[in-house]
Amino acid sequence: MIKYDLHTHSQFSPDAEDTVDLLCRTAIKKGITHLAITDHFDAHKDDTYPFYYNYEKQSIAIDNARVKYKDKLTLLKGIEYSQPYNTPEIFAQTLKLEFDIIIGSIHKIGHYNDYDKDNDTKYKKYFTNIKRMIEHGGFDVLGHIDFPARYYSDYYSHSRELEDAVKALCKSGIIPEINSSPLRRGMPFAMPDELILQMYTDFGGRYITTASDAHNANDIGADFDYIQKLIKRFNLLPVYFKDRKMFE
Ligand SMILES: [Zn+2]
Ligand SMILES: [Zn+2]
Repeated sequence: MIKYDLHTHSQFSPDAEDTVDLLCRTAIKKGITHLAITDHFDAHKDDTYPFYYNYEKQSIAIDNARVKYKDKLTLLKGIEYSQPYNTPEIFAQTLKLEFDIIIGSIHKIGHYNDYDKDNDTKYKKYFTNIKRMIEHGGFDVLGHIDFPARYYSDYYSHSRELEDAVKALCKSGIIPEINSSPLRRGMPFAMPDELILQMYTDFGGRYITTASDAHNANDIGADFDYIQKLIKRFNLLPVYFKDRKMFE
């Protein structure tokens, strides 16, 4: 059974409400041993939730919960930072703060209108930016490598841009997550699923993190049985991060 959920959102994300305490209690009930709170950090004015993140508030809640649940749960402090290459100075400053895990994610390419373009253009542009973000570096985990798939019924296929992004990922030491959230939206896949995981292992990738991307306590660990099957099929090894170091 998968015991790490390394991508969740608390009340300190603008699109989530549950307290860190409730997330912890629920995780323990569900048999999770390592829980990362990875609230959104959007630092560019054109991001979805600019300047909402508050490190102090999140830290206080996490420190309190760590004391309260220390025998039952390893609670990890993290953020999900949007498009670090768009705000390199703020990102560099952020890296000086104490975190266990930093997820780098792309939620926007320019403006959302870019997604209105045809399927091919949309994904090629997106994967080109994924490569750009990997090369920028500074984060531990690559969030939802094929994010547009969660919102658009048209799925992507193999492309040079995708392959280049996965190659860059394998070279970088950054670890991809398997994010179960599309399954909760009725889609028949995780982010990523077979196409990318096959490429990832072909290019030598071995480690992954397991992620619900829960925006409420109930979704912690959701559909981890599906992720478990992918892990088994591709012979992957789930890891977690503490003090920004990787552990099996
Ligand atoms: Zn995200
Ligand atoms: Zn997220």
